[in-house]
Amino acid sequence: MAKKTDAYWRAAGVAALLGLASVAATVHAQVPIPPVSPREANLNRLLDAYWLGSKALQLLLPLALLCSGYGARLCRWLGGQVRDARFLTIGLFGSAYVVLYTLLSLPLDYARHYRLPMSLGWLHDQTVGQWLGAQALGLIPWIVAAMLLLWIPYALMRRSPRRWWLWAAVATAPVTVFFLIAQPVWIKPLTTPYVALANANLRASIDDLASRCGLVHVAVVVGGSDTAVYGVGPTVRIFLESNLAKEETPDQIRFTIAHELKHYVLGDNWKLLPIAMALALLGFWLTYRVGHWATRRFQQRIGFSSLDDPASLPLLILCITALWLAVTPAFLAFDRHIEREADRFGLELSHENDAAARLFASWAQQGTDWVQPDAFARAFFYTHPSIAERIQIANDYHPWREGLPLRYADKCTMPSSAVIP
Ligand SMILES: [Zn+2]
Repeated sequence: MAKKTDAYWRAAGVAALLGLASVAATVHAQVPIPPVSPREANLNRLLDAYWLGSKALQLLLPLALLCSGYGARLCRWLGGQVRDARFLTIGLFGSAYVVLYTLLSLPLDYARHYRLPMSLGWLHDQTVGQWLGAQALGLIPWIVAAMLLLWIPYALMRRSPRRWWLWAAVATAPVTVFFLIAQPVWIKPLTTPYVALANANLRASIDDLASRCGLVHVAVVVGGSDTAVYGVGPTVRIFLESNLAKEETPDQIRFTIAHELKHYVLGDNWKLLPIAMALALLGFWLTYRVGHWATRRFQQRIGFSSLDDPASLPLLILCITALWLAVTPAFLAFDRHIEREADRFGLELSHENDAAARLFASWAQQGTDWVQPDAFARAFFYTHPSIAERIQIANDYHPWREGLPLRYADKCTMPSSAVIP
């Protein structure tokens, strides 16, 4: 902290010596970090409770299906409808599970993702019917995935009962790559309409920043309520929220685009591939070990005697869900690191420190983001650095002013401070 203060006064002194008092006042304006309001603290606790409720359901549903034997019975009944065709039985049981989970979590999802955002003004023009329709549409990719993919681990269990978990993890790689490719072009447009970017000013701003990173044409689409980069390889594109031009000033938009360009230039979405593979490896191995133990001890109760029986699906889901919960804090810490670095890259590329800090402060003011989420939220569901942290980095990170090296100078031709004050 003292180091930052020294840098501040040193830079301010140099600017004053050069007679640039007015420029210095602009450059070194510090945007104050808003205090955590009682409303935010209450909302924090409420969201923690919703999260706990939804995770409890994710664990209890497969556990209940296993322990009651109803999972096995449902699986047998579905198998009977398709003359015990193995491929169809697995796909249908997986689809039935997805529908059952969605129906059971509907009251909680309605409270968390419709009532609460409506009461806070985050959602405006969506009727309950439209929201329910989006939930139903959101089931489609899950059902398609269940029908097309679930047979893979079960086929491997039959062929290689001792090593199937290893081969299944290897098979996760092409599936994950396909998902990353399909997400922006087939999956996201299912629930949200997207159009090509038509705003000429925005296009020019993007092209200007992208050209510094050697990019000739960056695919950009507009729609929905979040700004992010989706896709990999041929389908990677920047998604801009539909109200971006209304909600952000031109200099804030420059920072936002520069932040997204970091995800684009550094191929951040590819980083999901090794994570998915490691998770699959651990999850399938855990299922293999737990399955071996459970089928010996609780065969009568759970209703199956071998893991390659499609009725074991709730066990597979339970093991992978439990593992995912255990690694969530580490995964989110990595996610926040990626986002922190995107802010750093965005500042190096745009020099829009003041605009960025004001943008983050405005989110806190509007109540659309938290100044400082509690430790539980940070550990289990907070994907970005807090507003307090983001304002601080926007206020303090400007090595180009002191002639210090930039972290991403090898990725793009970063402007010198003389070009953009
Ligand atoms: Zn980001």
